Amino acid sequence: MKALQYVKVGSAPEIREVPTPEPGPGQVRLKVTAAGACHSDSFVMGLSEDDYAAFGYPLPMTLGHEGAGIVDALGEGVAGVSVGDAVAVYGPWGCGRCYQCAQGKENYCERAGELGITPPGLGRDGSMAEYMLIDDPRFLVPLGDLDPVKNVALTDAGLTPYHAIRGSLGKLVPGSTAVVIGTGGLGHVAIQILRALTPATVIALDVSDEKLALASEVGAHHAFLSNDDAPDEIARAIGRPTVTAVFDFVAIQPTIDLGARLSGVESDVVLVGVGAGKTDVGMLARPYDATVRAPYWGSRPELMDVLQLARTGQVSVETETFSLDEAPEAYRRLHEGSLRGRAVIVP
Ligand code: NAD
Ligand code: ZN
Ligand code: ZN
Repeated sequence: MKALQYVKVGSAPEIREVPTPEPGPGQVRLKVTAAGACHSDSFVMGLSEDDYAAFGYPLPMTLGHEGAGIVDALGEGVAGVSVGDAVAVYGPWGCGRCYQCAQGKENYCERAGELGITPPGLGRDGSMAEYMLIDDPRFLVPLGDLDPVKNVALTDAGLTPYHAIRGSLGKLVPGSTAVVIGTGGLGHVAIQILRALTPATVIALDVSDEKLALASEVGAHHAFLSNDDAPDEIARAIGRPTVTAVFDFVAIQPTIDLGARLSGVESDVVLVGVGAGKTDVGMLARPYDATVRAPYWGSRPELMDVLQLARTGQVSVETETFSLDEAPEAYRRLHEGSLRGRAVIVP
């Protein structure tokens, strides 16, 4: 079968012919219907040899941690799914047994590191291939009649902002304000989730006019360029200098500093982007009771919630589609910042 693989640290990913995998005991094979391209893949492929080695992901590795498919073959002993089922893949795999996993929060598995469990596409072969293996049927969520191409990105670009926003829901009451920094793949879904779940006024910040236009189309009340003037623009728009919550989908030093300027007493700053920025926390470093969080992906039940938001039409992903042969181009466009919404590979 064909697969998009990261072969050598520092080189662009390549389309390669690899053996079609056979499901072992307990495993499920999917015929992939859609695979999303995330900026985290670009981050991993941008690491130096030493930094990459610290992650320990073996190469070559098939990319893709957002996946959807049709159940195609079952390993010995698999129950609960049938050949022909349309499913989405829950990506942050865990052990299934620890306290976090027992609550469906496999993204926060206490033992994944020790057991060497990694998500597909981030340490083991992922979804950017004709077929992929799933280690356990619990990592599959029924898609029903949701279009896999339009919805595959919800497994990360929807689930991650959903989980990030849920942590601040108690504060996003009438009259509250939420800032979304970076309105690309994750950010443009975050805006819709904020609009669907909260009465907050939503303000989008990005460095690109095209992304700001998309932010407004999907429901942002205000959209401004992310620069030194942004705090003044926001203050003029909402009538006060600080906001209730900042969701930073970039998290490089300039956006983290911007988020700090916008945070006031009891504000939440939620760092979702895998940037290299850092921030101070402490009695004299922040307004009283201001919090800073850095959440990771989301839980299995939260993925079900997000798919439900898509079924009711409250959230949809703006997608640009690419064939498997065109997948390297999708990553080039992601790197260059010229995608509208999410790039989805359709094998
Ligand atoms: P993306 O490239 O689709 O979107 C990033 C957006 O940020 C783009 O619209 C870009 O124009 C904008 N941007 C760049 N610099 C900016 C700046 N200085 N100010 C404001 N906007 C700026 O990326 P994505 O796939 O949506 O991923 C976003 C981030 O989230 C990445 O860092 C990714 O690694 C990370 N991520 C984290 C998790 C998690 O679990 N924490 C999960 C998935 C992705
Ligand atoms: Zn991702
Ligand atoms: Zn666990």
